[in-house]
Amino acid sequence: MALSDLIKKYEKVYVLRIGHRPERDKRITTHVGLVARAFGANGFILADICDESVMQSLRKVIERWGGDMYIECGVSGKSYVKNWKRIGGEVIHLTMYGLHVDDVIGAIRESPRPKLIVVGAEKVPPFYYEEADYNVAIGNQPHSEVAALAIFLDRLYQGRELHLEFPNARARIIPSPRGKKVVSLENTSSTR
Ligand code: SAM
Repeated sequence: MALSDLIKKYEKVYVLRIGHRPERDKRITTHVGLVARAFGANGFILADICDESVMQSLRKVIERWGGDMYIECGVSGKSYVKNWKRIGGEVIHLTMYGLHVDDVIGAIRESPRPKLIVVGAEKVPPFYYEEADYNVAIGNQPHSEVAALAIFLDRLYQGRELHLEFPNARARIIPSPRGKKVVSLENTSSTR
């Protein structure tokens, strides 16, 4: 299934990563971007800062494994949220303090509005709690933005995102019971 088919009801499902600290969050922010792509978002925005190593890692994955996720960095997170709402989109802030995902996912899934999913790092400013249409908890225990995002997208798409096919890939994996099988543009290679 193509990404456009998966999200056609919403047009846009973007992830806004706020609070990135370049000295300690490179890996986890990269993983937020990778999960956004692999689990069916079509945009990833790194707010308030540009970290070239994160953006470069994401570009490399998109180049090799395909897809056309839009990526951007350095825009104001607060302005982005305000503009998103101005164009009629809804803002979903993932936080352990929010309403349980089971209690709100039905309404979120049914609404055709473009979705901006906000994930934090350390302390999230009150602005995001106040501006969000939904503050959503993936259970009310602290864990991780990577886990929270993956589970949220999986619940939104009811598992269909795990069957996504990415256009323009340079390589594709052939599922294998053992070892690694990868088809490249010209040849098939096998390694164990
Ligand atoms: N105490 C912090 C807070 O303000 O929520 C936890 C920070 S946690 C390390 C980083 C991010 O992971 C949070 O901003 C949130 O987006 C996400 N997160 C962690 N646990 C979550 C949960 N149970 N439900 C939803 N999101 C969660």
